[in-house]
Amino acid sequence: MVSGKRGLIVAIDGPAGAGKSTIARLLAEKLGYTYIDTGAMYRAVTFCVIREDRHINDNERIVKFIRSLKMEIKNNRIYCFGEDITDKLRSELVEKNVSEISRIKEVREVLIEIQQQLGSRGKAVLEGRDIGTCVFPEADLKIFLSASPDIRAKRRYYQLVDANRKAKLDEVQKGIKHRDKIDSTRETGPLNPAEDAIFLDTSDLTINEVIEKIAGLVEEVKNNG
Ligand code: C5P
Repeated sequence: MVSGKRGLIVAIDGPAGAGKSTIARLLAEKLGYTYIDTGAMYRAVTFCVIREDRHINDNERIVKFIRSLKMEIKNNRIYCFGEDITDKLRSELVEKNVSEISRIKEVREVLIEIQQQLGSRGKAVLEGRDIGTCVFPEADLKIFLSASPDIRAKRRYYQLVDANRKAKLDEVQKGIKHRDKIDSTRETGPLNPAEDAIFLDTSDLTINEVIEKIAGLVEEVKNNG
């Protein structure tokens, strides 16, 4: 559905390491759209929960916390209670625990509401696991990005190496498998392609090729809308 009142909403979902973040960010830049990284929001909640020493399995306390959360996104930076925590979201500890926090229904409800507000004016590329199924089921274009498990683990591994982080390929592989399993089997908003999503396997494609492909699809939607 292309609304005359607002710009397009592009939903990009897929598992860890499929290339979503880079592709969604560059695509948004190319189109002049807002880029919304929903994974960073789940990571932000996880970071706050860990830092405040809230027990990671204490749902009741986490639900209380999420109901008090003040989260703002400005210029691709995430602020929780006024503090910019963007640079703290990629740690091993956050990465290890984020899927457990993301399966909590109340956490998803609060973050989905923020995501819907941010994207509601359109001209937005949202990236996550449940954008096409739960956040914007009426999105104008839904892409499900994937790649073979081996390639996804290698990409993530080289990202860590490039960031001068200690990394072992087999551990990265295990971490991705662990997150994928929780993300795709949880009850609320599991990682699942929407019925009307276009599936793109990025295993043998360069970032530019994927961006060109999606940009072409955006043009098609615009012309047909
Ligand atoms: O995309 P990223 O790797 O930053 O996401 C981190 C985690 O956040 C995912 O493994 C998943 O548990 C959660 N997530 C989610 N729903 C989204 C985006 C991310 O549950 N829309």
